Amino acid sequence: MGEMMLEYGYGGKILRIDLTEEKFHIEKMKKSWIKNVIGGRAANTKRLLEEIDPSCNPLGSENILIFGIGPLTGSILPASAYHIVTSKSPLTGILGDSAAGGQFGAEMKLTGFDQIIIKGRSEDLIYLMITEDGSEFVKCPEYRGRSILEVTEAIRKKQRNHSIQVAAIGPAGENLVLFSTIVSSGNRVNGRTGMGAVIGSKNLKAIAVRGSRSLKIKDPMAFFSEIKKIEKAILNHNEYNKRYRMGTTMLMKDLNRIGILPTNHFQKGACSYLDNISGERLEENYKVKNKACFNCNLHCSRYYICNDHEGEGPEFEMLCSFTSRIGNSDLSFALEMTEYLNQMGLDAISTGEIIGWIMECEEKGLISPEEIGVNISWGEKDKIREIVKKIVYREGIGDALAKGAKKFSERFSKEAQKLVMHVKGLDIICGDPRGIKAYGLTYAISSRGADHLRAEPYFELTDRREEAKRRFGTEKAADRLSEEGKAALVTYSEKISLLCDSMTMCKNIGLCMDILNFENVSLLLKTCTGMSYTPEYLQKIMGECINRDRVLNKKFGLNSEDDTLPERFLKEPLSEGPTKGSIVDIKRMINEYYKLHGWK
Ligand code: SF4
Repeated sequence: MGEMMLEYGYGGKILRIDLTEEKFHIEKMKKSWIKNVIGGRAANTKRLLEEIDPSCNPLGSENILIFGIGPLTGSILPASAYHIVTSKSPLTGILGDSAAGGQFGAEMKLTGFDQIIIKGRSEDLIYLMITEDGSEFVKCPEYRGRSILEVTEAIRKKQRNHSIQVAAIGPAGENLVLFSTIVSSGNRVNGRTGMGAVIGSKNLKAIAVRGSRSLKIKDPMAFFSEIKKIEKAILNHNEYNKRYRMGTTMLMKDLNRIGILPTNHFQKGACSYLDNISGERLEENYKVKNKACFNCNLHCSRYYICNDHEGEGPEFEMLCSFTSRIGNSDLSFALEMTEYLNQMGLDAISTGEIIGWIMECEEKGLISPEEIGVNISWGEKDKIREIVKKIVYREGIGDALAKGAKKFSERFSKEAQKLVMHVKGLDIICGDPRGIKAYGLTYAISSRGADHLRAEPYFELTDRREEAKRRFGTEKAADRLSEEGKAALVTYSEKISLLCDSMTMCKNIGLCMDILNFENVSLLLKTCTGMSYTPEYLQKIMGECINRDRVLNKKFGLNSEDDTLPERFLKEPLSEGPTKGSIVDIKRMINEYYKLHGWK
């Protein structure tokens, strides 16, 4: 019997691009291949495992870069906007991927391609113009060095179509900064693991998509009825108003209140000037309107104008990385840096980490200002500007800093190296795991390095003790300071997280607001694609996909010893505030987590 067609939900095609040969070809996406990975992140990882030589240079022409979307991307499912970029990471040398919302994924769906797989390297700087028919290879030497917004606008103008969605890199990606980003449509960021440098290494400035096909739904009325339930759950959620007003910047106050807001590079968990840098202050002083990703009814994104600077955002990680994490109390400076990083294409978390690490090491006398070329203390704005610019253009010390905090630290003492807040080479996000234990476990086990989004166990912050007992066997799963029940919570959440990244849907809604579960996802997939998944089967295949991440990372050289946290979180308790005295018993949680997975 022939291969079944993917008629509903999916585009049903793969676009393969060879930049060296300036050629493309189109393949059918096989139903038997996609069924057990759904799409998006899980499908990209499977593709990477099947097609990459694990020993390849991440910045060499042999590395592949995959843009992936899922069966529900661009549908009427709220917040179904995401696209995932996957490759071998040049920052960490392991599985690299990053998700972004906005409009790019929805437009890609209209081209009919579920995956765009790029290999090779172009001789000249080019961008790709992708439509249903394939790709044009457009030379663009004039775009070298230009900001992401400039390139986005220039491509739209040249193609005479303002609806084109563009994913571009800035000067940081061109200069192969290992934590550079891809930004779509001027403001939505694939930030983590250096995907911008992979594109830059291929001499590719941007990928533009424009499609015109329509999306076919298997059972439109039943699908619509499932969507209505989800829309209602979002609108009636107790955090709706707060998230609408401030987006994730609401976390500045929330995390400070419980003593886990990274301050002066995780030396403290609360800062005295919180009111100057909070989500509330941002809303009052600089927000001019709400913005949203494709078809989202939460509209958590915001547009700001501040002096000469404007743009969409910042979200929490950007805001905290350029305020309390590096000792800066000036909100307008953080907004200036938001614009600069988004236009130059630098990851905020990794940039904030390297600056905070230098500040702490200089303060403690572990590195001297002469070794860095700058004598910098907490919150010194001119010097922060100088360092960031040097990283973007790889000038002077910026050339070495562009390799990321972990690699840069290797030229200094063991004591200094221990202060880099990373796991597997990826810099830790802005949430101190000493006061959120399930997050600590998530950072340690995440297959792309220190990261919360692989499980986003926000549940432990919601104080739903009865629900915790029902779902995870103990009320302690809802106690942020306890290690008990956290392996069960993370094992559940990582599967929902993977479903969000694979269908695709925003995790703020799907996971943090606890909107998705195996039951409603199985109905969404059935009514949209016609493919049957029981809730139990979904759990099983998501578990297999998580195992696949591990198999791939083993090929990249990782082993279980890499599943840990920086020593600070394991041995140094915070000295004040509501998280005072707490450290992370990571071994206990990891043993329980491995048991649940059947790993050794
Ligand atoms: S909740 Fe915010 S980030 Fe998520 S899809 Fe909606 S607007 Fe985008």
